[in-house]
Amino acid sequence: MSDAVVAIDGPAGTGKSTVARGLAEALGSRYLDTGAMYRVVTLAVLRSGVALDDAEAVAAVAQRAEVSLDAQPDGDHAYLGGEDVSREIRGDEVTGAVSAVSAVPAVRTRLVALQQQLAGKGDGGAVVEGRDIGTVVLPDADVKIFLTASAETRARRRNAQNVAAGHSDDFAGVLADVVRRDELDSTRAVSPLRPADDAVIVDTGDMNQAQVINHLKDLVEQHCGAIR
Ligand code: C5P
Repeated sequence: MSDAVVAIDGPAGTGKSTVARGLAEALGSRYLDTGAMYRVVTLAVLRSGVALDDAEAVAAVAQRAEVSLDAQPDGDHAYLGGEDVSREIRGDEVTGAVSAVSAVPAVRTRLVALQQQLAGKGDGGAVVEGRDIGTVVLPDADVKIFLTASAETRARRRNAQNVAAGHSDDFAGVLADVVRRDELDSTRAVSPLRPADDAVIVDTGDMNQAQVINHLKDLVEQHCGAIR
């Protein structure tokens, strides 16, 4: 078990979620997927019917949305109010709209506060995954990791995941979406995607997920001492 608070950031398709979940398990720590929180708020916005470019209306929906996450043996679940929306938040509609919703400053203010609260809750360490964890959410994290890989590698992985989940095989479409989201996430005014100055950059292009998890576990041990 580790007491370390680990921030993992990076763009879509670096294997971040699987790796962060695996690392949390290896360390005996809690796991927090902040992207899922932005996705739940995005679903609330889509259902409300407000225009995505109406920042005030989007912020108002985000303010009211009850977002919660729960790690269960069969996987991580996400809820909007009491409703389990784990599957719906991974669909194309939410994926297409989430960058716009997460660029609204009031949405970020609300979710960052919630993330800080959840990361600090309870005993033991936490592995918190997102885009701005090392820079904004947990600037004092014990270890900050920034995962990277080329856009093509990331699109190939995301497309394979989609196919495995029963969605269509569309590498070109996925690559276009990866590039578009990178651009939106790294150029937005509030909390753009970038490594913290003290982050360790890890290129996952030539490693499988087990190798990345082992490498990150070693990094945590180097920074925080052996895991008991
Ligand atoms: O990690 P995931 O792909 O599920 O994240 C979905 C979207 O949520 C990202 O493309 C980004 O726009 C947003 N996000 C964010 N800040 C975070 C986590 C996710 O802006 N900490």
